[in-house]
Amino acid sequence: MTTSQTRTIGYLCPACRAKVIQPRAAFALAASGAAVSCACGRSCLTIDAEERRFRLAVPCGVCGGEHTAALDTERMLGDKGVGLACPQTGQLCCFIGADYEVERELERLSLAADKEAARGEDDALFTDSLIMHEVLSELKEIAARPHGVTCTCGSERYTMEVRPACVDLICADCGARLRVDAATDEDLDRLCCRWTLQIKGNQGG
Ligand SMILES: [Zn+2]
Ligand SMILES: [Zn+2]
Ligand SMILES: [Zn+2]
Repeated sequence: MTTSQTRTIGYLCPACRAKVIQPRAAFALAASGAAVSCACGRSCLTIDAEERRFRLAVPCGVCGGEHTAALDTERMLGDKGVGLACPQTGQLCCFIGADYEVERELERLSLAADKEAARGEDDALFTDSLIMHEVLSELKEIAARPHGVTCTCGSERYTMEVRPACVDLICADCGARLRVDAATDEDLDRLCCRWTLQIKGNQGG
C-alpha cells in the first residue's frame, strides 16, 4: 500500500459547532494514536492504535452523540481519504485524509448541519456525490426501521465507513462488514428495494 506522511483529521464540534481540523504525522499515529480536541475544550476525538487497526471515538457534530469505529491500518494511513457517517442521521461526521479534502468536506458538513444544504457540488472524494448522499439517506431510513440493520452475530450496533464508491456497514461487536455500493443509479435502485440489511457475522450466526 502507499502510505501518506501526514494525515489530517477533521470533525465538527458538537458543543460549539467549530470545525476541528488537525494534522498528525503517520508514524506518530501508528505509534501512539492521537487525541484531537476542539479549542473550546468540550469535545475530543480519540484514536487508539492497536496492532492492525485503529479505534476511533468521534464526537458527532450532526446528532450530538459520540460514535465509535474501527479502521484498518490500510484505511487509516493509506493515501485515500476516508469518511465516517453518523448512523443516526446518515450524514458524514468525520474525515481523515489529505488536508485539502478534509477542509472541503468539513466546510460542506458545517453548511449541511446548519441548513441541510450543500449538495450537487463537484466532489472528488466520491465517485458520484449525489448518489452517495442518496445512498446515505436511504441507509438512514433502513436503519430507522425496527431491526433495520442487524448482524448475524446478534448485534444491532454498527458503524458506517464511507468510501469513494461504497459504504461499508461494520458490526460494532464482531467487526464483520457489509458493503453497499454507492456509485451508480443501479446501486441506489438495488438499495431502495431492501427493507432491511443484514451483515454476515464473523462468528456464530
Ligand atoms: Zn468546540
Ligand atoms: Zn451522530
Ligand atoms: Zn456482528
